[in-house]
Amino acid sequence: MRAIQLVRHGRPGTLELREVPAPQPGADEVVVRVEACGLNHLDLWLEEAGLPLNIGLPRTPGCEPAGVIAAVGSGVTAWRAGDRVAVQSNLTCGTCEYCQAGEESMCLAAELLGVQRDGGLAEFVAVPQRALNRLPDGVAFTTSAALTLAGSTAMHMLTQRTTVKPGDWVLAMAGASGVGSAAIQIARGLGARVISTGSTAERRSLAVGLGAEAVVDTADPRWPAEVRRLTGKRGVDLVIEHIGGDVLPRCFECLARGGTVVTCGATAGREVTLNLWPLFVKQQRLVGSYSRNRADLEATLEWAAAGRLRPVIHSQRSLDHAAVSFQELRDRRVLGKALILPHAR
Ligand SMILES: [Zn+2]
Repeated sequence: MRAIQLVRHGRPGTLELREVPAPQPGADEVVVRVEACGLNHLDLWLEEAGLPLNIGLPRTPGCEPAGVIAAVGSGVTAWRAGDRVAVQSNLTCGTCEYCQAGEESMCLAAELLGVQRDGGLAEFVAVPQRALNRLPDGVAFTTSAALTLAGSTAMHMLTQRTTVKPGDWVLAMAGASGVGSAAIQIARGLGARVISTGSTAERRSLAVGLGAEAVVDTADPRWPAEVRRLTGKRGVDLVIEHIGGDVLPRCFECLARGGTVVTCGATAGREVTLNLWPLFVKQQRLVGSYSRNRADLEATLEWAAAGRLRPVIHSQRSLDHAAVSFQELRDRRVLGKALILPHAR
């Protein structure tokens, strides 16, 4: 079969389109014919060895595949060839105390698909059956590949790591990103009033199209003051943050008393300086969020099936043109999600 393989780390790393043996399912695994796979910042961290993991090369990236089961292992009874599936990127153990409690996002032994084992930028991928979610009728493979990771991450942030009440003000950072575009729609669906951010007019208009009632320009350093102005100086109840670096401390400038910043990422930097005085005086919270529980992905796919959550798809390319998509991702030119369709030519 054809697969993209990372053969040397770097920025850019060396990615090659190769002919490799098709995977066979282990006893507890299925092989999925990959119809679509989303690209993510995780793919860049793999590329540049930016994760605290030892990764053997070559490695096929791709943590967000969707497709049809082509073969099942000898121990698999709940799935059969022909089933349409979304594949979860965090391959959880199913046995630790957190998995047992339905908090799979805290699994003690999770592996990342497309990082610690070969992923979905290939015509076929072998995955443990625990990684599968049934794709509801009417949810396209492309929709799944655009929402499985970022959409369910936003669902986890908004419904598991905190709660949103109707009428709450929610600031969804970077509304043209995968997490941000989903966060706007989910927060709106929960009854919140949503403000988003964007550094270009194109990004801001995309956020408005998804339901943000106001969008602030983060190219202007006074953007937190604009958020306060929009909320009558009160500030927002919740910030959905996934950028890190200099952005995270500024989110607290936007936050109301008793408000919460939930963060799930740090693409702009992992170390930040935080002024603790306003944090405790205003009784605010900073909450970490990682990955998703099975229930979050199920909810995400249900919302998609009901038309309440729609993906923002930037591009769809074949394996032959995946290098173009990787370059756009490195250059931060992707609005929404870049998809690879491994069987397209
Ligand atoms: Zn576990």
